Amino acid sequence: MADAARVLVIDDEEAICELIEAVAESAGFSAHSASTPTDIERAIEGRFDLVVLDLSLGDLDGIEVMGRLGSLHRGMPIILVSGADRSLLDTAGRIAAMHKLRVIGTFAKPFSLDVLRSAMLAWAQVSDQAHDPTGPKILVGPDQLLDPECLHLVYQPKVSTTSGEVTGVEALVRWRHPSHGDVSPSVFVALIEGAGRTSELLDAVMNMAARDRTRHRALKSMPDVSVNISVLDLIDEELPRRAQRTLTEAAPAEQWTFEVTETAPITDAAPALSILTRLRLVGFRLAVDDFGTGTSNYERVLAAPFTELKIDRAMVSRLDIEASEPDPIVKSGVEVGHSLGLHVVAEGVETPDQFRMVREIGCDAAQGYLISAPVAPTQIDTALDEWRRRFEFLG
Ligand code: C2E
Ligand code: MG
Ligand code: MG
Repeated sequence: MADAARVLVIDDEEAICELIEAVAESAGFSAHSASTPTDIERAIEGRFDLVVLDLSLGDLDGIEVMGRLGSLHRGMPIILVSGADRSLLDTAGRIAAMHKLRVIGTFAKPFSLDVLRSAMLAWAQVSDQAHDPTGPKILVGPDQLLDPECLHLVYQPKVSTTSGEVTGVEALVRWRHPSHGDVSPSVFVALIEGAGRTSELLDAVMNMAARDRTRHRALKSMPDVSVNISVLDLIDEELPRRAQRTLTEAAPAEQWTFEVTETAPITDAAPALSILTRLRLVGFRLAVDDFGTGTSNYERVLAAPFTELKIDRAMVSRLDIEASEPDPIVKSGVEVGHSLGLHVVAEGVETPDQFRMVREIGCDAAQGYLISAPVAPTQIDTALDEWRRRFEFLG
């Protein structure tokens, strides 16, 4: 980074401002903050490269501030924090996107300062904070992001909630920055989509997944390997043929799942439906990813020939061990899934309590840090051995 990127912190509590400023500075940024309505008004007209915004600003309304930010700084990266609950924060994230802000992270208070710091660093890895009033310019372009030398896959197991046995693994792409290490797709996939090059990413991912599956014993014997696709891939009429050619060399179509993520809005549903149906006709399985985040709704699930429903981790985190009844929204999601004959998977299961609760409400499988983080193909067996030992004590 030539000059330190400037972070603007907006929070009505001065103490929080100071804390976040300190975090930003420790990560190598320069930071300033605003906490009163007049200061905030003035600050958002200034120059900065990243905003950390508290949604509940006392006299001012964080949502309104987002509107102003969007009109003044189109494409501005933003981190949202709030004391409100997770689902509200997710909605706010979608509103920010509607205002053409680029959401880098959303954090419910209290959040760990380390996590906030990592989000800022991850953003800095792919951005250059150019002194350009139109916003940050991307230092790493799509060519570099799609460089096969820099891409690899990690795999995260899904396990049966009743037997604890592995039902499959999900392939998650990583981009290895020459000096900063692995970068998460939540930071760079949007850049590739923005450049209109999602199909190249998918091709790279399918090639890597097929190659890994022929090379690594743990993947050869895996009942299912899933890959993520963007809705933007579902306008590509060639996809079913390419998928068949690439993936079935390594394993039959029935042992592959496509997880459909909506990182970009569906512009035209009809070709998407026909491509999904053609994939299914070849034998591939199809999962609705991130169910319950608002981008994936009941209508979609009913419309297309899905085989799996993945309950988003924001939903899973709504489950409360103290509650007398499980959260009705999560519960009805599982019921709808089952009534359509879908395999229901809970994402983002981090604690033994969450594992027991998702089993209780009928989720067939679970995935999350409790079971294993995403790992390299050579580490899958060890990760599963360790999980089996933990599973025995789960009760
Ligand atoms: P996803 O498909 O919903 O994947 C789950 C994400 O949650 C992964 O993040 C995973 O590392 C993370 N995760 C797993 N367990 C836990 C947990 O217990 N707690 C928490 N807090 N997080 C957990 P990752 O790898 O950064 O991927 C982010 C998203 O990027 C994915 O969400 C998926 O939508 C997208 N993505 C990943 N790989 C690809 C790809 O090859 N192509 C496309 N188009 N998108 C991809
Ligand atoms: Mg997924
Ligand atoms: Mg998901």
